[in-house]
Amino acid sequence: MTEPIRVRYAPSPTGFPHVGNIRTALFNWLFARHYGGSFIVRIEDTDVARTVPGAVENILTGLRWLGIDWDEGPEVGGPYGPYFQSERLDIYKEVAEKLVADGYAYYCHCSAERLADMRAKQEAAHLPPGYDKHCRDLGLGPAPGAVVRLKVPETGTTTFHDLIRGDVTFENRLLDDMVLLKSDGYPTYHLANVIDDHLMHISHVMRAEEWIPSTPRHIMLYNALGFEPPVFAHMPMILGPDHSKLSKRHGSVSLLEYREQGYLPETMINFLSLLGWSYDDKTELMNVKEIIERFTAERICQTAAIFNKEKLDWMNGVYIRQLAPNDLVDRVMPYLEKNLPESVKRPIDRDYVGKVMPLMQERLKTLEESAKPETTWFFFTDEIEYDHALLPDKKLGAAGTKDMLEKVLPKLEELSDFTAEPLEALLRPLAAELGLKAGQVFAPIRTAISGLTATPPLFGMMEVLGKEKCIKRIKDALVFLGQL
Ligand code: GLU
Repeated sequence: MTEPIRVRYAPSPTGFPHVGNIRTALFNWLFARHYGGSFIVRIEDTDVARTVPGAVENILTGLRWLGIDWDEGPEVGGPYGPYFQSERLDIYKEVAEKLVADGYAYYCHCSAERLADMRAKQEAAHLPPGYDKHCRDLGLGPAPGAVVRLKVPETGTTTFHDLIRGDVTFENRLLDDMVLLKSDGYPTYHLANVIDDHLMHISHVMRAEEWIPSTPRHIMLYNALGFEPPVFAHMPMILGPDHSKLSKRHGSVSLLEYREQGYLPETMINFLSLLGWSYDDKTELMNVKEIIERFTAERICQTAAIFNKEKLDWMNGVYIRQLAPNDLVDRVMPYLEKNLPESVKRPIDRDYVGKVMPLMQERLKTLEESAKPETTWFFFTDEIEYDHALLPDKKLGAAGTKDMLEKVLPKLEELSDFTAEPLEALLRPLAAELGLKAGQVFAPIRTAISGLTATPPLFGMMEVLGKEKCIKRIKDALVFLGQL
């Protein structure tokens, strides 16, 4: 590609960004980075009524978390603050007035009541909804409550070329005279979007498929304004595994919720990059550098992408296992600080976490799992709760398990080097000596010191907990078993 590549992510702050929105941001960013172009963030905040407080912050925090950096912007919210359309209202108003003056648009004075009445009649007559062009040829001027509408050609077709789908054609008669400037002085999405894409020299508009029906309207605006349209590329939909609209039920949540749940940004980049793009139909794991190197528009698919939460979990586990031990500790600390029981002293002892995490790293699917009652709490708190159904070995029963632990306890007390290897060297033969299977000894010890039946490897975990705690917990378990 020869022309300077300039792409944009243009979210409306009407909610917190979900998988689809972020995939749009990511694809544009990857495209810009691959071709050495520019990536712009433009907040399309022209729908005042639908603006959600905190949405802009949420969008920008999410981008920063993923490492999606933008290249320019006016001095808003920092040196590289994004563009905000609400700060450019004069520009849109001027262009709307020019369109009226040039005969491409007109003022419409229809009241809300008239429009409601019109809609009701259309519905009753089973007619397609749309403005009935009442004011189109009245030559009205500006007035309080008036809007500006585009004079859409009544015949013919409008075609645009889509980089992913080829030529797409719409019949003009099916498009109504859409509003360009609202009565509150704000532009509609269509007007502001087209003006800004032109003024910001956007070379490629890459957005979700749901915007295809808007594109012929945009082409009409480009034509009326004498602007050269950018290249369009509409990205495929993202569906759930059951091919229905993607929703929470499929495990799709807003971007920052994934952060809260303990997904790594590395995972999100890799996972999202494969929602509608592929390198070679089989490579799944790629770091961001590799994705940038490989990200060409030709490999964006046309068919819907399927969001697979199990794949996300698998991938996150892979990325967690790849983390350097110290890095993993850094990343789990906030989850431990937040989620360990209140009785555990804050700040959480980082060195101790450094001992626990190597035992957990293999097993974690999310960072949040590093701080759950059923995973690691027992490392940090002395409040172990026993379950009468879990502690005793099924075959030995409560009495037999108690008897076994009573025999094991003094041996553990005698052991001076309470580390994994000597522990195994002691306990494995001891089980044989007692005429028991290894599991019949290991499992009750595991539950005695953790309260759990599934834990990291027993000997490593005993080493980390230390002799004193292990002995104390086995004694507590003996008391518990004695009461059964
Ligand atoms: N503001 C639109 C949105 O929220 C932008 C669509 C486009 O990229 O043109 O998705």
